[in-house]
Amino acid sequence: MEIEIATIGGYEEVGRQMTAVRAGEDVVIFDMGLNLSKVLIHDNVETERMHSLDLIDMGAIPDDRVMSEIEGDVKAIVPTHGHLDHIGAISKLAHRYDAPIMATPFTIELVKQQIQGEEKFGVENDLVKMDAGASTRIGDDGVELEFVNVTHSIIDAINPVLHTPEGAIVYGLDKRMDHDPVLGDPIDMDRFREIGEEGVLCYIEDCTNAQKKGRTPSESVARRHLKDVMYSMADYDGGIVATTFSSHIARVKSLVEFADDIGRQPVLLGRSMEKYSGTAERLDFVEFPEDLGMYGHRKSVDRTFKRIMSEGKENFLPIVTGHQGEPRAMLTRMGRGDTPYELEEGDKVIFSARVIPEPTNEGQRYQSETLLKMQGARIYDEVHVSGHLNREGHYEMLNALEADHLIPAHQNMEGFAPYVELAESEGYELGEDLHVTRNGNVITLVE
Ligand SMILES: [Zn+2]
Repeated sequence: MEIEIATIGGYEEVGRQMTAVRAGEDVVIFDMGLNLSKVLIHDNVETERMHSLDLIDMGAIPDDRVMSEIEGDVKAIVPTHGHLDHIGAISKLAHRYDAPIMATPFTIELVKQQIQGEEKFGVENDLVKMDAGASTRIGDDGVELEFVNVTHSIIDAINPVLHTPEGAIVYGLDKRMDHDPVLGDPIDMDRFREIGEEGVLCYIEDCTNAQKKGRTPSESVARRHLKDVMYSMADYDGGIVATTFSSHIARVKSLVEFADDIGRQPVLLGRSMEKYSGTAERLDFVEFPEDLGMYGHRKSVDRTFKRIMSEGKENFLPIVTGHQGEPRAMLTRMGRGDTPYELEEGDKVIFSARVIPEPTNEGQRYQSETLLKMQGARIYDEVHVSGHLNREGHYEMLNALEADHLIPAHQNMEGFAPYVELAESEGYELGEDLHVTRNGNVITLVE
């Protein structure tokens, strides 16, 4: 069976991930993501109304025109998890393919919401839910798609595996090896080892933290860190504000619980806080206290801030958007003094996040933090663990899968380098079975 891999997006950057695998007549697309930084660099770009080709020219979504070089029919579009760099282009590109979108339930729900917000294209692909651990047949030539449970900074993440007569293609974006997650099941390393024994033709891997030594700590470590920080504030009688990735439901859950432990009423503020936590709760992925307030609209947010100010800041923990200093997010607005919440000397701001190492984020975050400090806020930074594998995690995956071919992904050339060195030390050879590639290439594995 002929096997080809088209590396469409996310091979020159972190963002706009998209890869297509052809096995005989059947093609499966993994991820259709957005590179948000290419959108945010422009003021006031409303992507909802934009045409795909303009977004491709901006570098915001994958340039899928390479798909015309791929024979066969697209049988499924498979986003691995709900982060925007993996699902954010579905509303712009999926309608060009006569294929269902298949993902885990939480991811499907986020895809559905994204399609509903689209104003330019009518996306009518079927949305098919498949749970982690399940498999389904693709086409008539003995190809099967399996979802292996992985742990990441968003719930319900999987690594899809395409089983072909030539061996398995493992699409390894994004994960960390968490054996003690706060929500959901541990990573299914047993299954990865089994698949490795059955034979892996190719492993496509997210190299994000390959330069970092050791292993990525579990989410339970971030939870303990956060507990320590928040318990240390138990006696403080002023304002405490926290921010994190709004899609990081496990972290939001920890913030909510520890707020209660230190005698404060948690409240989620900001549009995406309301969206992700509301969705997770509705789908029973997390249980929040019944009276937990979630407010996204400007008016209800301002009303809540006024209530907090009149009932006493010391009784509340606002959990807000703005961990990267995004100009329109809640924490940035609080820093600018654009909300009824008044920060005072000594008030505490917890960033349960790291700055995404990218100049736009770094600049915006610097600005936001400086504005908060100018009002007297004390900053607690990096109460966080990464969602991506460090070097020893990559080493373990290489040994579990023993793939015939490796394709590093989810990085620029600089980010590939440490992964390439690791792979070479494990016996892979650049240009032979280790394929460093760019956006828009097609790699033939079996002719
Ligand atoms: Zn991700």
